Amino acid sequence: MKIICIGRNYVAHAKELENEIPVEPIFFMKPDSALLRNNDPFYIPDWTNEVHHEVELVIKINRIGKNIEKQFAHRYYDEIGLGIDFTARDIQAQLKSKGLPWEKAKAFDQSAVLSSTFFPKSIIPDDESIFFKLNINGETVQEGDSGLMIFGFDELISHVSKYVTLKIGDLIYTGTPAGVGPVKIGDRLEGFLEGKEMFDFMVK
Ligand code: ZN
Repeated sequence: MKIICIGRNYVAHAKELENEIPVEPIFFMKPDSALLRNNDPFYIPDWTNEVHHEVELVIKINRIGKNIEKQFAHRYYDEIGLGIDFTARDIQAQLKSKGLPWEKAKAFDQSAVLSSTFFPKSIIPDDESIFFKLNINGETVQEGDSGLMIFGFDELISHVSKYVTLKIGDLIYTGTPAGVGPVKIGDRLEGFLEGKEMFDFMVK
């Protein structure tokens, strides 16, 4: 199982990090050792001073595929969940400035929070507007509407599968809306998808 993450898929988030709007999807990967589930606490690693939350919709691949055409991409997933792409922003900034890969900042243990429950994709309306949000200590810090994604689910599946074979159980983190920011010890993070609580855990 692999975790594929999409970068800069919401215009407002690309701008808040002063990045260009991409002309094609940007993706990177996390290993399965990055998963954090069952509302287990997140422990801030000792080698970073700035871990940011990025709440994201997550689609789960349900069949093997390579070079998937966009018109058939909807057949390759049938469940949607919620996750957080934890990012060591200070380390990522160092790596980006040197033109180096992002793995240290993105692929570390516990960096991929995943909801235990998934919704059937039938909840997705035709305009792809699914609402999700992240609360920290009861305050909403990020709100997303997947209808505002630069690249939709089908386009992401099609693009990624040109380069990487998708397999059953693979996860695609589909990018974060604006509002990313640091987490600190003692924070309580709660994620919601269409109003339903998807995860609730502490930062330690
Ligand atoms: Zn992300």
